[in-house]
Amino acid sequence: MRIATFQHQGRRQVGLVDADGQHVTPLAVDDPTSGALCLIDRLVQGLPLPAASGQALPLAGVQLEAPIPRPRRNVWCVGRNYHAHARELRDTVFKDSAANVQAWPIVFTKVPECVVATGTDVRLPHTVSTQIDYEAELAVIIGRGGRNIARANAMSHVFGYTIVNDVTARDVQMRHQQWDLGKSFDTFCPMGPWIVTADELDGQRTRVQCFVNGDKRQDANTEDLIFDLPTLIETCSRGITLLPGDVIATGTPAGVGMGLNPPVWLRHGDVVRVQIDGIGAIENRFVDDPAPQGGAG
Ligand code: MG
Repeated sequence: MRIATFQHQGRRQVGLVDADGQHVTPLAVDDPTSGALCLIDRLVQGLPLPAASGQALPLAGVQLEAPIPRPRRNVWCVGRNYHAHARELRDTVFKDSAANVQAWPIVFTKVPECVVATGTDVRLPHTVSTQIDYEAELAVIIGRGGRNIARANAMSHVFGYTIVNDVTARDVQMRHQQWDLGKSFDTFCPMGPWIVTADELDGQRTRVQCFVNGDKRQDANTEDLIFDLPTLIETCSRGITLLPGDVIATGTPAGVGMGLNPPVWLRHGDVVRVQIDGIGAIENRFVDDPAPQGGAG
């Protein structure tokens, strides 16, 4: 199944994307406020899929939202998880951790409020950062929760997959010991276009690509992850109970703007497309942040 959250006729709905990829059939969920999260909770409890609540709608006629518009808590993210990406940033972001590549994953989080849909403008707040970068990533959506999940059972906890652009303010990321500040600016987590359930995609073998204004910048396969999906689930659940709907962004391949020589940062008008085989693509324009300094919005 491909589960989408969308706006139609002024209200949020949850539905299934049809096989043709051109239509979405709305479902009769009790409360669509949480988007696909309400469906994940329901299915994890063993309840049946709700019935359709109406005719299939053309996707072109609805406004897609992030499948989980506001995750229940921070988005888990993994840093330095492709060997080539570890190499391209070994003298900058990973300078102090290069020796630990084979030891433990780097795990940080993004606040839930920075999640936005495909098609939403991502704001470049130049008063705070002048080094904003893209990161194409496969994201795992947890189904059945659990604590101390063993690697051998980890994939049975995967509900499905979606796409995340882990947008990053490199200067802010670099100057703080922890990364969350530089990763969590408003609008810094484009997510979507929908969730593909685990029975329809092998997330351990799929191609991840990123294009900036049509130019390919990243192209890799999740087979090349340093820490594979079961290891990431095992790691994140050590002593912490994972919850249904938790999102784990699995790291980005080589080809980020910071890794170019000289580095290239995102500018007003740039369009970033992240594409993953078996899911689809998200595309977001980057625009100068119009909010005044000290303003409320
Ligand atoms: Mg990342």
